[in-house]
Amino acid sequence: MAYALPDLPYDYNALEPYIDEQTMRIHHDKHHNTYVTNLNKAVEGYPDLAAKRIDDLLANLEIIPGDVRLAIRNHGGGHANHALFWTCMASPGNGGGGEPTGELAQAIESSFGNFATFKETFIKAATTQFGSGWAWLSLDQHGKLHVGSTGNQDTPLSHDHKPLLCLDVWEHAYYLKYQNRRPEFVAAWWNVVNWPAVAERYAQGNT
Ligand code: MN
Repeated sequence: MAYALPDLPYDYNALEPYIDEQTMRIHHDKHHNTYVTNLNKAVEGYPDLAAKRIDDLLANLEIIPGDVRLAIRNHGGGHANHALFWTCMASPGNGGGGEPTGELAQAIESSFGNFATFKETFIKAATTQFGSGWAWLSLDQHGKLHVGSTGNQDTPLSHDHKPLLCLDVWEHAYYLKYQNRRPEFVAAWWNVVNWPAVAERYAQGNT
C-alpha cells in the first residue's frame, strides 16, 4: 500500500478530559483509516502518483489526472489533515496547552497584535466554518502567518501555504462528548495544543 495510517503519538486517552478516549479511537482507527484506504484505492494504477508524498500531491492538484483528482483531494486531504492534526496535540500539562514561546510567539504578535487576538481570530474561523471543515494557522510563501478555514478536507497546501496548526471541526471530531456544542469543543481544545510542535514547523518553514 502506498499510504499508511500513522500511529497516534500518544495514548488514546492522553487528551482526556478535553478529548475523550472513545472519540480518539473512532476518529483515528475508523475515520482516518478510511481516508487512507480510499486514498490507496484512488492511486491504484497510478504508480507515479502513489510514489509521491501526499503533501506534494495536495500542493499540485492540477497535475493529477481528472478521474482521480477529486478522490485524492478528498481522501488524500483527509489523510494529510488528520496526520497533521494528531501532531498538533499533546497531553495537557505534558506538552499540551499554554502559549507559544520564542520565534513563533513573536511572529504571532507581529501578525495579530497579541496571542489573545490570534486566539479570537482562530476561534472565529473554527466556529463559523459552515458544515464540515478545518481551522488553520498557516505560513505563506513570504513568511507571513494566516488564520483561516477550509471546507471538507481541503488544505492550505493547495493554496501554496504551509499548514502549522489545524483543528478538525467535522462533527465526528467532537459529537460524542460535545454533541452540537462546537464552540465548547473549540474552547477546550486549547488545553491540548502542542505549541512546541507548531513552533518547530514554523522554524522549518520560515528558513
Ligand atoms: Mn476528522
